[in-house]
Amino acid sequence: MNYRHIIDGTEANLPIGKVVCVGRNYAAHAKELNNPVPSEPVLFIKPNTSLASLAESVLIPAHLGECHFEAEMSILIGTELSANCNEEQAQAAIAGVGIALDLTLRDLQQQLKDKSLPWEKAKAFDGACPVSGFVAVAKISDLQDQQIQLYQNDLLRQDGNSADMLTPVLTLLVYISQFFTLLPGDIVLTGTPAGVGPLAVGDNLTVSLSDLVSCQAQIIRRD
Ligand code: ZN
Repeated sequence: MNYRHIIDGTEANLPIGKVVCVGRNYAAHAKELNNPVPSEPVLFIKPNTSLASLAESVLIPAHLGECHFEAEMSILIGTELSANCNEEQAQAAIAGVGIALDLTLRDLQQQLKDKSLPWEKAKAFDGACPVSGFVAVAKISDLQDQQIQLYQNDLLRQDGNSADMLTPVLTLLVYISQFFTLLPGDIVLTGTPAGVGPLAVGDNLTVSLSDLVSCQAQIIRRD
């Protein structure tokens, strides 16, 4: 793993931590996969070995079945956030904001879900979390008004806004920290809007967060 956190184009002096993700945080996405809209956030974790840069190429284990893109707003944690924190502390703990892919081996996830087993093999594999560089949080005027877009070979597949999150960012950070202490260098993925779909080797992706972050990457097979 040679991933490093980047903030405003400069390598950040932060460790490479875990990634805490929320599933079904946009009602339209829950519906497209025939999942119920949850009454509480659905959380799962990707280990730091899942992290990769979204800057040039994205490696997918194509031999393990369909691999879906899920574009998500990402939050880089700068200071520790633990149980009983409040939203003000959560806001102060954010170091940067970016865009990421929650890569998901959809066939494998369906098999695991059918057996009521955990999703880790489908979501936490090496390279399952390509992330962009981050912009410093001071440049974000409103966390809940950010456009999340993903183009696959020039076709707009995902076009959502963080205004439509079921659990907004600060509420989500407080909720997560009741279960998992968030440490400096951890990343939180905030859920994907509708429009997810399978990747093919050779695809070109353009993934962006408003006019703040934009990444282009080619999909490459990893055996
Ligand atoms: Zn996701």
